[in-house]
Amino acid sequence: MIKAHGYAAKHSFSKLKPIGFEREEPGLGEVEIAVMFCGVCHSDVHQVRNEWGNSVYPCMPGHEIVGRVTRAGGDRSKFAAGDLVGVGCMIDSCRECAPCTGGEEQYCEGPNSWLATYNGPMKPAAMAGGTNAYGRDNTYGGYSDVLVAREEFVLRIPDKLSPKAAAPILCAGVTTWSPMKRWGVKAGDRVGVIGFGGLGDMAVKLARALGAEVYVFTTTTEKVADAGKLGATGVVEGDAEAYAKLGNSFDLLLSTVPEKHKVDPFVPLLKRDRAFVAVGALEQMSGYDNSELAKHRKSLAGSLIGSIAETQEVLDFCAEHGIAPEVQVIPIQEVNRAYKKIERGEVRYRYVIDMASLAAEVADA
Ligand code: ZN
Ligand code: ZN
Repeated sequence: MIKAHGYAAKHSFSKLKPIGFEREEPGLGEVEIAVMFCGVCHSDVHQVRNEWGNSVYPCMPGHEIVGRVTRAGGDRSKFAAGDLVGVGCMIDSCRECAPCTGGEEQYCEGPNSWLATYNGPMKPAAMAGGTNAYGRDNTYGGYSDVLVAREEFVLRIPDKLSPKAAAPILCAGVTTWSPMKRWGVKAGDRVGVIGFGGLGDMAVKLARALGAEVYVFTTTTEKVADAGKLGATGVVEGDAEAYAKLGNSFDLLLSTVPEKHKVDPFVPLLKRDRAFVAVGALEQMSGYDNSELAKHRKSLAGSLIGSIAETQEVLDFCAEHGIAPEVQVIPIQEVNRAYKKIERGEVRYRYVIDMASLAAEVADA
């Protein structure tokens, strides 16, 4: 077993605190990674607080992980010690069902779905006793010094990306990239991004690089100027006059808001046959009026993270186009304070934990 250290919450109401634990040695086709950076995603906060009702404790979040390979299981591994790699939301899946063999592991239909990097798998029934259906203990994420993952789920970080900036691409980046590919965003399209946090920041940069004209809908008036700095037009949510002027002109509306919100005000902004896609919230959205949808054959849709292939694609795309998420690097000792700021909507735009701070703490202990 590998001796590991990380930060985890023991209950939904407790702070994240340092814990020691063990990880299994990498088997054939698995790699061991020394974690360098880990992004703090809003999902981490939802999971720690048990807001989806399926958390297993201790809960050690982190699914925007960048590090170096320390060991690759097997001679034929595509990775070698020293490679700069990333791990996102998934570390395994059934690898047999139609979505998995079709390269869309995030929609795995196997009996246990995909194995989440932390708190995996997501089905509460499978997690009785704290052991998940893969026969392992509850998975622990990237708020730790070492990680083991299936090599099919490990991404290559291109040389042109800085390791700390690459971290949020692994969740926030691919979560916004996947629907843009699915709904075919292209040069000249008009894209609306609703919510302007870590996901929104990535959505704007990616859509702009694809050649789209981008609008940001935000409840935070001060963020309107920030949208402008990224070459987008900021609109204050609910500004009836602005909405009227925009009319039905959008090719895609992407909601990155991490909680339920009203959909109806946005639907009239879509062109005929276009979609409103929610990626930020995994919960009951408010009721909607079907008349506007039906009359113009518009769609309401959801989209979950992205496939492994899409994750590699968006990493490469960011490297090629010089795209880097806006990050604020923190030591792990500040993670509880960071959570409070995320809950209050005060973070601009993504916290990334420098895991060297954990190593320093372990050395001191
Ligand atoms: Zn995430
Ligand atoms: Zn599957």
